[in-house]
Amino acid sequence: MRVCIHRGTKEIGGSCVEVVSDCGKRLIVDLGLPLEIGSNDKKYLPEITGLDGNDDSLLAVLISHPNLDHFGLLGHIAGNIPVIMGAEARRILIKAAPFLRGEWKVPAMGLNFKSGQTFDLGPFRITPYLIDHSAYDAYSMLIEADGKRLFYSGDFRLHGRKAKLTQTLMAAPPEKIDVLLLDGSTSGRSGIDDSFPTETEIEDTLSSLFEDAAGLTLVHTSARNIDRVISVFRACKKTGKTLVVDLYTAVVLEATGNNNIPPSEWPEIALYIPEQQRIQIKQNQWFNLLKKHLKNRVFIGNLQSIADKSVLLFRPLYMKDLENGGLLDDALYIYSQWEGYWEQESNSYLREWLNKHTVPKVSVHTSGYATPPELKRFAVALAPERIVPIHSFRPGKYHELFDSVEKHNDGDYWGV
Ligand SMILES: [Zn+2]
Repeated sequence: MRVCIHRGTKEIGGSCVEVVSDCGKRLIVDLGLPLEIGSNDKKYLPEITGLDGNDDSLLAVLISHPNLDHFGLLGHIAGNIPVIMGAEARRILIKAAPFLRGEWKVPAMGLNFKSGQTFDLGPFRITPYLIDHSAYDAYSMLIEADGKRLFYSGDFRLHGRKAKLTQTLMAAPPEKIDVLLLDGSTSGRSGIDDSFPTETEIEDTLSSLFEDAAGLTLVHTSARNIDRVISVFRACKKTGKTLVVDLYTAVVLEATGNNNIPPSEWPEIALYIPEQQRIQIKQNQWFNLLKKHLKNRVFIGNLQSIADKSVLLFRPLYMKDLENGGLLDDALYIYSQWEGYWEQESNSYLREWLNKHTVPKVSVHTSGYATPPELKRFAVALAPERIVPIHSFRPGKYHELFDSVEKHNDGDYWGV
């Protein structure tokens, strides 16, 4: 079995790994968009034979989890290539796609991962493991072929709401792993003793901020970071606030199919359709979709009267409505994503908007990735022969944490 990391040996994002069996059959694991790229233009698709659907040796594309840096280029592959991922992840991507600008279609065919259930694909034997990450329905996977065993960690952590999943894998890991392709997002980024807040701690911090808020609270996070949405929701419940979401968020929450994740009809949730989305609904005639989520709909007038009792799951498309509705007096903006995005030029309009309206910004976030000590514990538990860095800006720092590190370059083919 040979492997080629087409993208990801020296960067976080754009992950794409090709696995080739001795008989020439191939799998692609992840087909992500590089983080610094705003559009998912086809020109970023790695040059891999068969993505046009004309080569039988390519058996499938496996997607570890529904984050852009792992699936973002999926819309450009031929529809006859099986795409294997978690059932909930697939449903989230399919439901979210129409709301997004650009080409985000998700080929619907292909097996669904079931955690711990092994399946065969040509010469490959694959076992997915549901794991704790900020993206919903995220998997690590063991890929076996030609008597060799490759373990792809995918992105993971040990301090989220599903930390138990990672702990369970570490307590009874697959044996005799030849190569561990290990996510090193935090490698060299923080000290060896660093820890990140847990999602429960995030929930507590949010609760105290909500408690003190005199006006509308805006929480800016990704609707697809379900763990975080739950933290916001639970903090709302604790402080007697209503969580206000738009149709996109309502649709994503529903797509999880999980009864513990708040649907739009729960009394603690309100639906507010910003003007920009109202136009989108009209243009696309999504009236039936809207109807499904209408139960707790509020309008700008309602929001004005319940501003201090409400938390809005903020997206930039709300900006005009909030401004025109006079909802920014005493408002608080909570930034709940990776701080690196905040500094980007693309966010300057948001920074200026907050300044203009003198809305204070507070950051409340925890990483979706394992800390260096957690990475170390993970590697010790899985006990691979060799560790190959992936999904890291600092692969050169792996040797400080692990033995038997083997670095590769993007585009190199190497044996497992
Ligand atoms: Zn990633």
